[in-house]
Amino acid sequence: MENVTIIGAACAGLTAAIYAARANLSPLVVAGTFKPGNVSVPGGQLMTTTDVENFPGFPAGIKGPELIKAMRAQAERFGARFIDNDEVVTLDGSGRSLALTLDGGDRIETKAAIVATGAVPRTIDIPSWETYWNRGVGTCAVCDGHFFRGKEVAIVGGGDSALEEAQYMAKLCPRVYLIHRRDSLRGSKIMQDHALKNPVIQPVWDSTVEEILGDGTRVTGARIKNVKTGATSELALGALFAAIGHVPATAFLKGSVALDEQGYIPVTRGTFTNVAGVFAAGDCVDHVYRQAVTAAGMGCMAAMDVERWLATQG
Ligand code: NAP
Repeated sequence: MENVTIIGAACAGLTAAIYAARANLSPLVVAGTFKPGNVSVPGGQLMTTTDVENFPGFPAGIKGPELIKAMRAQAERFGARFIDNDEVVTLDGSGRSLALTLDGGDRIETKAAIVATGAVPRTIDIPSWETYWNRGVGTCAVCDGHFFRGKEVAIVGGGDSALEEAQYMAKLCPRVYLIHRRDSLRGSKIMQDHALKNPVIQPVWDSTVEEILGDGTRVTGARIKNVKTGATSELALGALFAAIGHVPATAFLKGSVALDEQGYIPVTRGTFTNVAGVFAAGDCVDHVYRQAVTAAGMGCMAAMDVERWLATQG
């Protein structure tokens, strides 16, 4: 019987692990797997980010994967245990303790659980997306962009992720189209300034992607539609990456823990879910702030809530 099992090993889960380990709860962390459609990507979204410049304590910035590695080392130093390359597929909260089943078939009995599974990238709902997925179509330019060095590429979206990916690709490519469905960006002012001043980045305003064009094996372009005029046009491209937000990785909780209509986990009194013993933190809860530092803060709250809740259970 575990005291607390933490589902997810990114900012929220690892911070919860540090706090729970220091509270002598000997937490078990199920870190997740790297396969598509999984519930928890090990290390979360920071694993696919370049420079993190706004996490306090790093005046010169830090690479996302380095930050995650350091958080994990800190959790391990205090005795947190990790299950790697497996993920939780069901959570049963109907008994006296919680029962988790893992994709690999193992079962974990635990007094408490912290769900910190984060969120996964949203994709564009067009048939050609599937055809060219991983053949020039993707959701992580920072991960796969180097394959398209020297080509003209497009990034879809108007938030900080799209701006960051456009800047990244602008170092590798002669032209980066930034396709956005409106005529003003959502991203932070400083990132907008950097992107819009970059001569390689060419905004394509008021436009959506109608179809990915290709030769059957790889992307050759995209047909885009101006949503104001209805006009369509074609861009010749080597790759197209969507950076259009995320959906919470909570599908495995359907029917066992209350979710809102978008799949986020509602919490009360800090990090309590509707199931006794189940707590939640990070991007699977928060669709407003969604920052590494806020996820870490919620992970800390969840571990403290677990510690106090376990004490009340005797
Ligand atoms: P976001 O802020 O939600 O932006 C998503 C963008 O995609 C929006 O511009 C949205 O358009 C567009 N979009 C959504 N659905 C679409 C669809 N179906 N088709 C076309 N476009 C669509 O998401 P994000 O950029 O991933 O950022 C998430 C959070 O992480 C934010 O809080 C951001 O500040 C943070 N972040 C920070 C950094 C950094 O500081 N280094 C880097 C990345 C992300 P509309 O604008 O029209 O809604």
